[in-house]
Amino acid sequence: MKRRDFLRTTAVGAAGISLLGVPFAAEAAQTINLTILHTNDQHSRIEPFPDDGRKYGGMGGMAKRATLIEQIRKEEPNVLLLDSGDIWQGTPYFNFFGGELEFKLMSQMKYDAATLGNHDLDNGLRGLEKMLPFADFPFVTANYDFSNTILKNRFEPYKVFEKQGVRIGVFGLGIELDGLVAKNNFEQTVYLDPVAVAKEMVQELRVNQKCNLVVCLSHLGYKYEDEKIDDVKLAQQVQGIDLILGAHTHTFLDQPTAILHDSGHETLINQVGWSGIFLGRIDFSFNRKSKKRTDVRTALVPVNTPVTTS
Ligand SMILES: [Zn+2]
Repeated sequence: MKRRDFLRTTAVGAAGISLLGVPFAAEAAQTINLTILHTNDQHSRIEPFPDDGRKYGGMGGMAKRATLIEQIRKEEPNVLLLDSGDIWQGTPYFNFFGGELEFKLMSQMKYDAATLGNHDLDNGLRGLEKMLPFADFPFVTANYDFSNTILKNRFEPYKVFEKQGVRIGVFGLGIELDGLVAKNNFEQTVYLDPVAVAKEMVQELRVNQKCNLVVCLSHLGYKYEDEKIDDVKLAQQVQGIDLILGAHTHTFLDQPTAILHDSGHETLINQVGWSGIFLGRIDFSFNRKSKKRTDVRTALVPVNTPVTTS
């Protein structure tokens, strides 16, 4: 190999390695990496889509997803696994078992947190309450007030995670239930303005909880043409959210949408379609000393890799 070719190969190789989230040793010493994996609108898709020539045939399935997540956890020191709601409804698994299987499998995959989608209330507040013991992960929801319902005190508005000293605040926002969910399924649940609540959450998480990264699990929907609040409007109207992991509109984004504020702060919005066909992956780097965000890399991971056993 000529020296010139060797140099080029080395440079490309190094860039390739860096893209995979394993930076140079010197860089690594100064950097903490955080890998956020996420799903939305799983809709009770336990199994892959039948491989019968349809779009996304053979893709998805919780077993394959579990294998993928396990692989990534082996490679990365700091992983958070999050879901943005509508775990339920869409296959007979939900109709027969009421969501028990979905919650159990997500617990086995070690989900760190999820928020509620409108379909997660399809069996009413009682139906959700009955299944909560099967979820070994918390639901975060900041703009549903369940005080006058049987779900009082069952959820937190946010949760703070700490990975190698980096503090990550994760809060949840739900969609207006009135008109979308039968009244007798949400009963006296009070809906709070997501923009006002998000501003409070940013203040609480950034200032009081000293978070270095603020993540919103949103079931508001990606984008609407009318006045209805969506993730894009939320990102524009609220400063200080780093990442909105969206849901509800089943939007497939090849890469996150970036909203830049006048302050220079950037909010990323991502959503990975529905049914667990894709796993979203966002890798943030932080300066080890200052804990400030230095870099972000994103990937849309298809859940169709052959499951190999070693
Ligand atoms: Zn939904």
